[in-house]
Amino acid sequence: MWFREKRSLAMTKYVFVTGGVSSSLGKGLTASSLGRLLKSRGLKVTMCKLDPYLNVDPGTMNPGEHGEVFVTDDGGETDLDLGHYERFIDESLSKISNTTTGSIYSNVIAKERRGDYLGKTVQVIPHVTDEIKERIRRQGTLGADVVIVEIGGTVGDIEIVPFIESIRQFRRDAGRDNVCYVHLTLVPYLAPSGEQKTKPTQHSVTELRSRGIQPDIIVCRSDQPISDSLKRKISLLCDVPMKAVISAVDEESIYDIPVTLHHEGFDTIVCDTLNIDLDEHPIDLAPWESVVRRVHNTTSTLRIGIVGKYVTMPDAYLSVGEAVRHAGFGIGAKTTIEWLEAERVPSEIDAERLGQFDGIIVPGGFGERGIEGMIATARIAREHDIPYLGICLGMQIQVIEFARHVLGLSDAQSTEFTHSSSAPVISLLTEQLDVTDLGGTMRLGAWPAMLDEGSQVAELYGTTVVSERHRHRYEFNARYRDQFEAAGLRCSGNSPDGRLVEFVELPGHAFFVGTQAHPEFKSRPDRPHPLFVGLIKAAALRAEGREPHIIDPSTVDATL
Ligand code: GLN
Repeated sequence: MWFREKRSLAMTKYVFVTGGVSSSLGKGLTASSLGRLLKSRGLKVTMCKLDPYLNVDPGTMNPGEHGEVFVTDDGGETDLDLGHYERFIDESLSKISNTTTGSIYSNVIAKERRGDYLGKTVQVIPHVTDEIKERIRRQGTLGADVVIVEIGGTVGDIEIVPFIESIRQFRRDAGRDNVCYVHLTLVPYLAPSGEQKTKPTQHSVTELRSRGIQPDIIVCRSDQPISDSLKRKISLLCDVPMKAVISAVDEESIYDIPVTLHHEGFDTIVCDTLNIDLDEHPIDLAPWESVVRRVHNTTSTLRIGIVGKYVTMPDAYLSVGEAVRHAGFGIGAKTTIEWLEAERVPSEIDAERLGQFDGIIVPGGFGERGIEGMIATARIAREHDIPYLGICLGMQIQVIEFARHVLGLSDAQSTEFTHSSSAPVISLLTEQLDVTDLGGTMRLGAWPAMLDEGSQVAELYGTTVVSERHRHRYEFNARYRDQFEAAGLRCSGNSPDGRLVEFVELPGHAFFVGTQAHPEFKSRPDRPHPLFVGLIKAAALRAEGREPHIIDPSTVDATL
């Protein structure tokens, strides 16, 4: 039956995931888990997110408030949920995988100005809804069998109304069998009465129905499993079959979620709703289950300190945290991350305290706050042989630190923070060279780099040609390259034209590596990123020194 199993579906199918009751219920993870389950059934899956806020894209949003800006290969600055999508379905998404009300309206208004609407009154229905449907339909032209569309926000929000209306219309346009509505709600446990409550779910479904959508499946988030009698109640009150009430309990790891949801029958009922033949698309969850085994079979614990600016909101560095965990899975180590406020280094968080970590990361960031604390962190890591990975701003920091304390350029700085430094070791490319071919001011998306033969980074990547995603304005100032190299900081990876320094490393140090890119965006649970693997291996060696035999770094398997 191989020919049937390999066959693509005749029509693209669409799953719409909405949320009710409360935000932060894990809609993105539920949608991503479904994506993984459908992919495990041999279906081609793509995913996208519709965000009802008015920003044109999340690029200008404060990560301390909104969480990380996830960058795609084509330079899209997108919502962090796209990171979950990529990590779970292992497909590279693009700019068009994230749409906001702001981007919809800018397009509609631009069309109106051009006269495209031929003098008609431009209205939310049909013009805005048509634009939203067009964005969804575009996803369906990319060759996927199933497009999973997550609607940001919760039903009942003012901004969400045009999106709900659009997806309601979409079923009529695409055909009943080609659309499935999944609604995620919260089933809270009330301790005083010792009961789980369905009322918020009922209200949320009522709200959705008032907009013309009857959900096909209700996914109930709760801290305890939902009993059959409760499922029966939700089934009756919300008018879905009992098997379409899915219990989604809190899990120890986010990577457990696809397995749990599969056991709840989630993917089966989605396929039934979409008329996808389960015999033609049997599930093979074995590869994912082996990821899950690695997540739980950890024999040691490594402590990683992340020194940054937005540490009170760890979602600001979501992909960095996941990349650390993935690398840990690779060597059977649990990684505990401590988020450290850069401004507290070195006064409150000193060398002794930092020395308790097995590895340190200074992640990306913008703006001056905390810079001196990060520089102090890099200095402590370099001088005390603590494994250090510098990501984007974190690399710029280690370059500034090295310039100040090894090259003796005591006021070395980035021109992002001052123009009065006599040693601008990090600066804008336009300040360094006469370059006009860079387009916008920000270097965004995938850029290739050539790694020096025999360098530490080339060893880790196992190749000398790599591509990583970028999101920054400032660069290593090539005028200082020889000075750095003479003092031992190797510029081990460069842009193919040799103009841009992409990687630095310090031979002889336990691990002192920096990259101008954001490698965290390409790490996957079953394919940890080489640079994070390098950090974690070095961290394991350091931990081994402290508590011998807790781990054997020679067993590290970066490829899984
Ligand atoms: N602020 C720095 C720059 O613009 C670093 C950016 C980042 O870490 N993403 O170059």
